[in-house]
Amino acid sequence: MSTARTFCGTPRAGDAGRTMTVFGWVDRRRDHGGLIFIDLRDHTGTLQVVIDPQTARGLGNAHEVRLEWVLRVDGELRARAPQNVNPKRETGEVELHAAACAVLSAAKTPPFPVNEDSEVEEQLRLRHRYLDLRRPRLQRNLRTRAAFCIELRRALTGLGFVEIETPQMIRATPEGARDYLVPSRLFPGSFYALPQSPQLYKQLCMVAGFDRYFQLAHCMRDEDLRADRQPEFTQLDIEMSFVDEEDVFAALEQVIPAAWNACDFRGSPLPVPFPRVTWKDAMGRYGTDKPDTRFALELTDITATVRHSGFRVFADAVARGAIVKAICVPGGGDLSRADIEGRLTDIARDAKAKGLAHLWKRAGGWEGPIAKFFTAEELDGIGAATGANTGDCVLMVADTPDTVAAALGALRNHLGAARGLYDRDRVDMIWVTEFPMFTRSAETGEVTPAHHPFTMINADDVGKLESDPLAVRSRAYDIVVNGREVGSGSIRITDPDIQRRVFAAIGIDGEAARRKFGFLLEAFEYGVPPHGGWAGGIDRMLMEGLAEENIRDVIAFPKNQQAQEPMTDAPAPVDEAQLRELGLTLPPSRRNESAQPKPPFSERR
Ligand code: ASP
Repeated sequence: MSTARTFCGTPRAGDAGRTMTVFGWVDRRRDHGGLIFIDLRDHTGTLQVVIDPQTARGLGNAHEVRLEWVLRVDGELRARAPQNVNPKRETGEVELHAAACAVLSAAKTPPFPVNEDSEVEEQLRLRHRYLDLRRPRLQRNLRTRAAFCIELRRALTGLGFVEIETPQMIRATPEGARDYLVPSRLFPGSFYALPQSPQLYKQLCMVAGFDRYFQLAHCMRDEDLRADRQPEFTQLDIEMSFVDEEDVFAALEQVIPAAWNACDFRGSPLPVPFPRVTWKDAMGRYGTDKPDTRFALELTDITATVRHSGFRVFADAVARGAIVKAICVPGGGDLSRADIEGRLTDIARDAKAKGLAHLWKRAGGWEGPIAKFFTAEELDGIGAATGANTGDCVLMVADTPDTVAAALGALRNHLGAARGLYDRDRVDMIWVTEFPMFTRSAETGEVTPAHHPFTMINADDVGKLESDPLAVRSRAYDIVVNGREVGSGSIRITDPDIQRRVFAAIGIDGEAARRKFGFLLEAFEYGVPPHGGWAGGIDRMLMEGLAEENIRDVIAFPKNQQAQEPMTDAPAPVDEAQLRELGLTLPPSRRNESAQPKPPFSERR
């Protein structure tokens, strides 16, 4: 269409008198019998079009035009009469009087309103994602996403980073999740893995001398999905040579704010430098390694105060090795016993705590069902440790350090949100540092890397690698935003002896290491610079920046909670012939399933 095009959202009062051509979708229509008023929408906004069926050329019967039809309108822009001006709309002072109008495409009635941001069942939205994406909020989100990525690229390139694409069909890279596998046709029985991250390739780029690498990398992890997790996602992936933590922090404290501020996220610039908290402090003070630091409500240890108290639950637990910690809810005097023993105790129990104890500090002294078991001195001690004032409520949990942290950490997050303890527009982007190198898997009981096995350990802890691996601190760091982890990184191991000992700690012997990662270990034998890096979820950063609750609202074509794409119906069975070619056979039960004819596409929901 070679016609000069005016975008719907752009005409202003000063353009009155101009003739113009607009293209777009019918956002709203009002049929006044004689005249038809149409709001025509494109990605820039909407423009009111006035059609007089008597005089407008081309449109067979203008009264038939319906929502979401695609039109071309040629006409003259006129100022609206003062009483018809719509101050809420940027084009509200003008309207286009149609001289000619053409239907470029008629449309079925959309399955949900496109012209308003109403709640629509998610499956339906995803089934017709192209309609969902027409809605202004998602248009804004995806356009902002593009702008954010451009700014990231600009900032990184300015700092000397080189964008390098790494392969999508690879040998598995361990990031702790399940792999998506791709069967090989030429080598039946062999599989590529889709990358959980470009980790090993970016390290090889350092061996290759690129010095500073980045990629907006597409990664796939077969994990259970949550509101902030998708099976495929994009991460800002970087790696740098001849650096330590400070250099990585400094680079990211330039790059992320540059992009964030260019997008004007949350209306205020991102504070730099990002505050830092060690993993140990985060666990101790907030009960989590992803602390939401927008509010205090910190955990305090009261084990010593209650160790010999008459409250047997605490005293006995401490005697068995438990610790007791508390949070003081400011103004929590208004929490009823029913609130505490209901919802709040449920939250503690979900985190595996056996119970939740409470005390109110009232004008007349300490109250609550267990107050009578403590001496005045012990109560004063609890008050002093937690900083409780009259009108507050102290919540306490006795258990193993992990359970206490999980229970009070969850309560802290719940109470922070439920009691409005922070400004919702505030953004706290922080570093969490000095993660432990290993954790014990809850499922298998085995020692596994907390980050990945190429993460360097703290030099002071080398001696504990064999004797006390769980006490070894790593040189890994996360970025956490308002209580959500958005990215992790580390300084890497380049010393073959330490790498061997780290592998040994997680049960990978020399032979297995060579089989799985021999290519990396070999590359390191040819001159490897000290290096480190980081990767952060672009989708999660956008969620925070755009204040979206669901990661799917910042991704063009996301998967649903079952990792399906309702629009194309992926994943889908494949033909027997295709399986045969790949040397794959399915168990008979599955074979029947794949042979099931699918209902015609138009009938699927
Ligand atoms: N590869 C890591 C990840 O994707 C990030 C890193 O260590 O740079 O979590």
